[in-house]
Amino acid sequence: MSHLPYEPYSIPACYQSSDTRELERKILTSDTHSDAVVIGSGITGNTLALHLSEAGRSVVQLEAKVPGWGGSGRAFGSVVPCHKNSEDAILRHYGTRRGTRLIDALAHGPALVSQLLERYKIDAAFPGGGWAFGAHSKPFYKKLQKRAEYWQARGADVEYLGGSEFSEVIGSDYYRGGLIDKRALSVSPYSYARGLFENAHRLGAKQYINTPALDVQQTQTKSWSVTTPQGSVECENVYFCTNAYTKGVWPGLEKGFIPVRGFGATTAAVDPAQLDSILPQNHFITDTRQLWSGIRKLPSGQLHLGVGGPAMGAKGKADLKVARQRLKDVYPAIGSVEWGESWSGWIAVSVDQFPRIIRLADGVWAAQGYNGRGIALSTLLGRELSFCHGDSEKEDLILPVEKKIRKVPFHPFSPLGAAAMIGIYGLQDAIADRIK
Ligand SMILES: Cc1cc2nc3c(=O)[nH]c(=O)nc-3n(C[C@H](O)[C@H](O)[C@H](O)COP(=O)(O)OP(=O)(O)OC[C@H]3O[C@@H](n4cnc5c(N)ncnc54)[C@H](O)[C@@H]3O)c2cc1C
Repeated sequence: MSHLPYEPYSIPACYQSSDTRELERKILTSDTHSDAVVIGSGITGNTLALHLSEAGRSVVQLEAKVPGWGGSGRAFGSVVPCHKNSEDAILRHYGTRRGTRLIDALAHGPALVSQLLERYKIDAAFPGGGWAFGAHSKPFYKKLQKRAEYWQARGADVEYLGGSEFSEVIGSDYYRGGLIDKRALSVSPYSYARGLFENAHRLGAKQYINTPALDVQQTQTKSWSVTTPQGSVECENVYFCTNAYTKGVWPGLEKGFIPVRGFGATTAAVDPAQLDSILPQNHFITDTRQLWSGIRKLPSGQLHLGVGGPAMGAKGKADLKVARQRLKDVYPAIGSVEWGESWSGWIAVSVDQFPRIIRLADGVWAAQGYNGRGIALSTLLGRELSFCHGDSEKEDLILPVEKKIRKVPFHPFSPLGAAAMIGIYGLQDAIADRIK
């Protein structure tokens, strides 16, 4: 039985071709021991391995495939200073004290990623002016203006620009206004994940690739034993950093989220003269639509889009017809679009769209449920997991540690519910699109 969900796509070539560092590691073929076993080598696992190694703990990291195989090697690469849920929803869910801390931690997320990039000399950030968040229809102009005021009152470098100023920033008059958030970053998530992986290794983490964790069992001495196809590790703490790629190792862990497909696509390299007029200050765009809307430039001269597609199963391709239309709507001068590649990856969507840190048993931990906003969050939660050991965690983590997996109700049927929800979102987007 495979201990990974089926993943028909490889890591996109646009990321792999710009990061050809050799990160060859062996398969685990012996029985060994360590303080901690980190399962997974996406951003969560790699940040955790880095922090634990830095704190002097012995770490074994197990990756079923290669570093960045999961969402971290496939993401659109926008690192934003906020959560999927609104600030009001966060305060309602967590209460004022913890909610405010979480909002602040999320706001600091891109800065935290920047600090790690700088400190460990990881070349993953694309040059750019931040996030251009367009209001795609009338009801959202006011919402974004209010949002700008909220953040300005908190001292953030965020402003709302009306039509002509916003058009200048993005090189298109498609939107009547939008928010410019200079705190956000645009990165190669693959290079970021691999840079963290490489630095965890430098700090002493023992890393194994093509080595899935198959089973985690408590030993007679109350430590944990993690079994792999050709070896095992005995340890005090096990950390599941497998997010949407979780399958079958710890009972019920994958029932805490609904796996949803997210898609990406790149164009072929665009004529440089034309490219200069698209996103002239190198912002990345998303807008107030509920479904995919991201557009950014890659250093290779290609355009990169967040794209829709069949969301509930591994089969199916990115919807390039809709993506082509979106490009034409925003940048009509682009003419006929030649595509480079398209791909997809799994996203872990929780019912309330909030992420979780879970203590599965004393010494066994997991972080999951980033809902497609995971680059800064996985960096934050990788750090937070490094404060969780044995039967306790540091007080005042940014998330409460949950003792039970909050299972998605009727999990086997959840794809149907999620598909219906996505259909409704699409409809809402289409209706809002008409209210210009
Ligand atoms: C198409 C797409 C676009 C996205 N865009 C954005 C975006 O623009 N901004 C943003 O913030 N977020 C985005 N996300 C979400 C973000 O990519 C993820 O939330 C984040 O990368 C999760 O990191 P992770 O380390 O927790 O998990 P992953 O990166 O998924 O890593 C999990 C790892 O665990 C390994 N694994 C699983 N099971 C085992 C096992 N049994 N043994 C050993 N290893 C195992 C997997 O092989 C994988 O490498 C996007 C995701 C997708 C798919």
